[in-house]
Amino acid sequence: MVKMDCYDEFYDQVYSVGRRFSDEERNRIMTIIQMIPNDVDSLLEVGCGDGRIINNLKNKYENICGMDISNEALKNVKTPKIKGRIENIPFPDNSFDIVLCSEVLEHLPNTIYEKALKELQRVANKYILITVPNEENLQIGNVKCPQCASSFHVYGHLRSFSLLHMKDLFEFFGLVDFEIVLNDVYVLDDLVIKIKKWLKIDIFTFEDAKSCPKCGFTVSHKINGFNNTKKPYLIERLPFQFPMKKSGGWIIALYVKK
Ligand SMILES: [Zn+2]
Repeated sequence: MVKMDCYDEFYDQVYSVGRRFSDEERNRIMTIIQMIPNDVDSLLEVGCGDGRIINNLKNKYENICGMDISNEALKNVKTPKIKGRIENIPFPDNSFDIVLCSEVLEHLPNTIYEKALKELQRVANKYILITVPNEENLQIGNVKCPQCASSFHVYGHLRSFSLLHMKDLFEFFGLVDFEIVLNDVYVLDDLVIKIKKWLKIDIFTFEDAKSCPKCGFTVSHKINGFNNTKKPYLIERLPFQFPMKKSGGWIIALYVKK
């Protein structure tokens, strides 16, 4: 559970060391952008991070704004921007035709989750576009802080979503379109995860996380040091292809005002 009193600082730390940017994420961003309806003149991105989505839309809309909790993240945003919190969005009702909120909801603590959903609906005039990880097993992302020994999810994810959840996410907006962008994973990955869990070995390490959300402890590490789509060293050297399957990935969901 992310403690509210170091919430902002946690995300400043995350963005001060930089976040990796994979080809797979680039493709996902293109899918998100393609799902924005044509009858939209204004756009707000809530939790825009370092602008990796909204920077692509900079010349497309007259009224565009990126909002984030982290000043460090906003440094890289090239559109108009504002520091703000999802549970108290600093705009009047119906301010933007579409409100985009990508990979934010899974990070929200219970104390603000319901308020955040209400705020997205309040500010959106026509549409809401949401992306979340698809059917994520949160246990797999568990890591332990070497300083305070608390356990937390490697990317700060606090809740998991399925398409079933997404269908009834909002009270005043209904689901009209969705895409599930699946990941390519090795069939063997499931076995490796099972063995590691059996041996009580963490799948991820603290170095894969940016810092500890409880005590703020940070380790220095390379920006692109971790990539979960990278082939393991041994598999890369084998003269045949291991079987792969599609799983996990992300749900991209478009909602329209009822
Ligand atoms: Zn800690």
